[in-house]
Formats: sequence, structure tokens, C-alpha cells
Amino acid sequence: MTPLSPVIKRLTKEIDDHVPGALRRMTNYIDHKIINEVCVNCDQLTDPTTYKNKVDAMEYQISGICEKCQPDFFGPTTTPKKRKGRI
Ligand SMILES: [Zn+2]
Repeated sequence: MTPLSPVIKRLTKEIDDHVPGALRRMTNYIDHKIINEVCVNCDQLTDPTTYKNKVDAMEYQISGICEKCQPDFFGPTTTPKKRKGRI
């Protein structure tokens, strides 16, 4: 399990504490990471076009959380996997 980024922890706490501009700082932080194709949590370079699951790739474009870190935030994927030999 990937440890939660201290930056994300701090920004989340600021939002919870209703610090003025906290939400804006969080969205700016996420946008900056997505532009640079880096995960907001583990800070590793990531390429959503290579993700096996399209929903995970879409999620990255929203939250900036890479496919490796997503289960730590959202739990195991609920998208059914395609099975061989079945329609
Ligand atoms: Zn990550």
C-alpha cells in the first residue's frame, strides 16, 4: 500500500479546516501533476494511455491518482474484468 503523500494530507486537512483558498490550492496541485503526467500521491511518472482499465485512466484525468495508488484511495476496482471465453 502506498503511503499517503504528506502534501495531499496537508491540503486535505486545510480543506477540512475551511482554510480560505484551500480547495483552489488542491485543484491547482492536481492540475499541475496531471499536466506533467505525475501521480499526485506517489509522485511517479505515469502514462494513463497504458492503463489496462479505461476507467482508471479516466480517473487519473480527474484526480491525478495513478492506477497503482487508486485502490488505496477508492478500494479495489468495481469494474468487471473481461473473462476469456465469455461474451
Ligand atoms: Zn501513484
